[in-house]
Amino acid sequence: MAKPKLANYQRKRDFTRTQEPSGKNARAAPAKALRFVIQKHAASRLHFDLRLEWAGAFRSWAVPKGPSRDPKVRRMAMEVEDHPLDYGDFEGTIPKGEYGGGTVMLWDRGYWAPEKGFEKVGAALDAGELKFVMEGERMHGSWVLVRLKGGQPGNSKNAWLLIKHRDEGAVEGDAMASTDDDRSVASGRSMAQIAAGKGPALKPFMAAARPKPEAAAALPAFVEPQLARTLEKPPSGPGWAHEIKFDGYRMQLRIS
Ligand code: MN
Repeated sequence: MAKPKLANYQRKRDFTRTQEPSGKNARAAPAKALRFVIQKHAASRLHFDLRLEWAGAFRSWAVPKGPSRDPKVRRMAMEVEDHPLDYGDFEGTIPKGEYGGGTVMLWDRGYWAPEKGFEKVGAALDAGELKFVMEGERMHGSWVLVRLKGGQPGNSKNAWLLIKHRDEGAVEGDAMASTDDDRSVASGRSMAQIAAGKGPALKPFMAAARPKPEAAAALPAFVEPQLARTLEKPPSGPGWAHEIKFDGYRMQLRIS
């Protein structure tokens, strides 16, 4: 995989002054199950930052009014520079006077996937339309990001719309992003607690403990499903149990 391009991100920040991750000596590794985070950011103007894991970094959009789960509401989303994956575990306060100075809360996090026809995510973003699903603690179901006319790929002042599709995750009249009474999904803290540097430590998501390499290597790549065989008599004895065979699909779940 090509190295993520984080030069813009790094140029804007002084890592001797801000606690934000630099993206060097990264703790979070890219994952096949793509992750997303939404951070509530009380900078000079309150906004929400939507970050979608892609190509080893977070593609990022600043959403001034926050996402709305109401399909009738279109929210402006300004594309900003890619952020390092470690940013998905960042919660705290960027000092006043520094880039993006203000308090950052981990407001939602989970997994995302492109919808059918949008699997080539890089090309879809270049073309200015990405339909995708998010499954987090607050976000559920299908969304679209669509670039407004006049926007250019790679332009840092790139205006998009973020719109919820109609599905079970839609909420008419949604005002979730406009409350002050919300809590971090990572630490349970309020904005005031984060700003004060108080309250419980956050539970990491991006740099979650991974199994030791030898444990991962012990998992086979594929486990052949056990098929039923026809016999005159079922086997008996200790270690055997019997159940009626229902026809249908078999699903394997693998955790590594
Ligand atoms: Mn921000």
